[in-house]
Amino acid sequence: QADIAMYHTKDSGRNNYHFFNEAMHQRVQDRLNILSYLHEGLSKRQFELYYQPKIDLATGRIIGAEALIRWHHPVRGLITPDDFIPVAEQSGLIEEMGTWVVEEACRYCKQCEELGLIESDFTMAVNISPVQFSRGAITEVVDEALKKNGLAAQRLELELTESLLIDNSASIKRALLQLRKLGVELAIDDFGTGYSNLGYLKAFQVGVLKIDRSFISKILEAEQSRILVEAIIQVASRLNIKVVAEGVESQQMAEALFVLGCDQAQGFHWTRPLNAMKFEKYMRDHQREQRRNGGAPTLQA
Ligand code: C2E
Ligand code: MG
Ligand code: MG
Ligand code: MG
Repeated sequence: QADIAMYHTKDSGRNNYHFFNEAMHQRVQDRLNILSYLHEGLSKRQFELYYQPKIDLATGRIIGAEALIRWHHPVRGLITPDDFIPVAEQSGLIEEMGTWVVEEACRYCKQCEELGLIESDFTMAVNISPVQFSRGAITEVVDEALKKNGLAAQRLELELTESLLIDNSASIKRALLQLRKLGVELAIDDFGTGYSNLGYLKAFQVGVLKIDRSFISKILEAEQSRILVEAIIQVASRLNIKVVAEGVESQQMAEALFVLGCDQAQGFHWTRPLNAMKFEKYMRDHQREQRRNGGAPTLQA
């Protein structure tokens, strides 16, 4: 971020060049630093999963959560995934990290089940990097994590990227169908930013589609975005694919999505991703709230 800022503030040719080089150098250095710290971070257990609830728009019930990785670096503090996932992917470290994420999410989901915090239709969604998917034995990793924790496969949902489907390789298709056979749900993350189409989804037995935040954030202002989102929702529903809106930040947005026929949503309007302790409190408060109003529909945060 800093290097881009510098680049924009200097206009005169020579300065520009000088700063650009420095920025590039800094970036390479940053990557190398991050990579060596990443190895250390994994062995020293500096990673943690946060959880963001997923809400059923018709009833206001929490029907799932998405697990999102966080890195607590002893010196640099909290680092968000956009700053280290790409490095983990390029270095191949994503395999080990991704395995940990799947295991930890399954373990924690089982714990929530035992604490009586989640209902029978609650699912835990986990992001899977396309790199991890094509390199590793993803089916075995998932199968083992479920068995080890005694978690039903129906509890787990894997969030995949559109690029994975476009690849259209036989081995990826095989892995996806194996996962479906296990009983795991498949979701396409950030839908609309890539170039896949709804036809792919059926062929790969994808049951959930998450519409990218960039469309959702514009539905109140831009007619175009609203039309697009509505069309996606309509086709998906005819194909029996559930639609989740990501990045819902206001009551107005939640209501607009509900009117458009969207099933589920997540976003800062309800809560930011929470660490395990705060997530548990959030779930308890929600249970109390649900009991109080007898499960009446509410879009209220
Ligand atoms: P994603 O899977 O699309 O996750 C949604 C991102 O949007 C999260 O950012 C979440 O904190 C953020 N978000 C949720 N609601 C709102 C909202 O209302 N407004 C705004 N502005 N943002 C919202 P986060 O946690 O920083 O994760 C970024 C990306 O990093 C994720 O995008 C995902 O692609 C990747 N990622 C996160 N955890 C993992 C992981 O365990 N494994 C892999 N492979 N990738 C991960
Ligand atoms: Mg996701
Ligand atoms: Mg997403
Ligand atoms: Mg995203």
